[in-house]
Amino acid sequence: MTIDTTALAALLFPNVTETPAEVEARFPARNLPEGAIVSRMAPSPTGFVHLGNLVQGLTSERMCHQSGGTLFLRVEDTDAKREVPGAVEVLIEGLKHYGILFDEGATVDGDNGIYGPYRQRQRADIYHVFAKQLVLQGEAYPCFCTEEELADIRARQEAEKANFGYFGKWALWRDRPLEEIQAALDKGLPFVLRYRSTGSLEHKIKFTDLIKGNLELTENDMDHVLLKSDGIPTYHFAHAVDDHLMHTTHVVRGDEWLPTLPFHLQLFRSLGFKPPKYLHIGPLMKMDGDSKRKLSKRKDPELALTYYREAGFPVKSVYEYLMTVLNSNFEDWRRANPDAPIDDFKFSYKKMNPAGSLFDAAKLRDVSKNVISRMSTEEIYAEVTDWAKDYDTDLYAHLTADADYTKKILAIGRGGKKPRKDFAVLADVRPYLDFFFDDWFAVTDEYPAQFDKADILKALEGFLATYDEADDMTVWFDKIKAMADGLGFAADMKAYKENPTAYKGNVADISMFLRVAVTGRQNAPDMYAVMHILGPDRVKARIEAMMNTLRG
Ligand code: GLU
Repeated sequence: MTIDTTALAALLFPNVTETPAEVEARFPARNLPEGAIVSRMAPSPTGFVHLGNLVQGLTSERMCHQSGGTLFLRVEDTDAKREVPGAVEVLIEGLKHYGILFDEGATVDGDNGIYGPYRQRQRADIYHVFAKQLVLQGEAYPCFCTEEELADIRARQEAEKANFGYFGKWALWRDRPLEEIQAALDKGLPFVLRYRSTGSLEHKIKFTDLIKGNLELTENDMDHVLLKSDGIPTYHFAHAVDDHLMHTTHVVRGDEWLPTLPFHLQLFRSLGFKPPKYLHIGPLMKMDGDSKRKLSKRKDPELALTYYREAGFPVKSVYEYLMTVLNSNFEDWRRANPDAPIDDFKFSYKKMNPAGSLFDAAKLRDVSKNVISRMSTEEIYAEVTDWAKDYDTDLYAHLTADADYTKKILAIGRGGKKPRKDFAVLADVRPYLDFFFDDWFAVTDEYPAQFDKADILKALEGFLATYDEADDMTVWFDKIKAMADGLGFAADMKAYKENPTAYKGNVADISMFLRVAVTGRQNAPDMYAVMHILGPDRVKARIEAMMNTLRG
């Protein structure tokens, strides 16, 4: 049956007067250099920002900014039910925290750019122009099915073992005469606008995804919804209209959208738009026992972006880790350029794993250790105080009471070719340096039982007898060696190894005696540096306290 589409369009969209050409004129081509990529983040404001958002954002951001293009933010708020108040702000702040800065789009203070509005619910009139166009072309029609009718269709499909969905003979309103539509409208019945698909499951389409490669997909035969009963579009329709008008060249999105891609391509064709290039990113997975599974919001706290800040991973660490995961050649580049700013790395989507990436918590910690070890003292001080302010106020108070003192501590082993790697997360700072603060200092390690208390006492005594804060490192250590020798401990490690039974121990043991007294533990950073930072009074007081304890 053919229907008078002009009459239908007028009936459904009596207030739409603008033509598609007029709308397009409001969204002129972008003035960008050849090869510049225009991409976007198009998140839904659900209040939950996850690692997948960051992966997608980072991929788009690198592609746009490395090509001299534009990255914009579009808020996909078409699903009012899922929207959480304040979510847009959370989203923008969360992404900004990770250095994803947009050139254009939705901002906390409104829109920035000429291709807006950038919040989809504010674009309803635009979608209606194109919806009307599809009605005119006979490619869209209203459907007045109630929930019950849809449930009934589903039940009958189940009984017949047919595919589920609104298509073909099941599409009750696909070919209704104008009078019936008119009558339903007169009754004020709600309706959705559906796409009139001419696709068939018998047909395949060939398609090249920039990450997944060459694909063969089955055509779409469903009469999917374009506009919901409140006149707000579905994701699919909004995607086609917006990415066309906003001149998106590359759509980077999760591969959960791959099954609906044939529908999207149909829409672009029906609307007369050139489709963008697509990059469908595989999900983030993790090992669960022997098998891989997708990171889940319910089971894996590390999926939430907020987790990383709380746990004390610096932004740089997370970013660097994601690069490692996303581009297989990143680690080689980093080894060759240990101190280069990460933006110097040439990111390429071609190096992305089509199957998705494996999230590896241990690897993240390793990467983070490296990243933190390469920070300057000022940078690590800023990072840790900033973190502690929110998550460990006691630590914050200690660190900031005397910033110079704290910086001296943080400077130990920093800056050389092989910096110390003590911190994977900023929360590791406290147990590392607590002994520098008298109110936190406590002797937590014991002297190993193999050593004679009298020898330990003599070593501590001997050290204090000659300790001079002004000694340089060599003189300081020579004194310790001399004392070791005097106590029957080998001063020379080689000699000790050759004949261990000839000695009570060696100079490293003597150092350990001092370390336990001064830091309260057997493992601590370089003792010479530690003593200098603590200062002679504290060093003496702690050694004397230990001597008293040993004497009982
Ligand atoms: N709003 C969609 C989502 O959050 C966006 C997908 C896209 O980037 O096109 O999954």
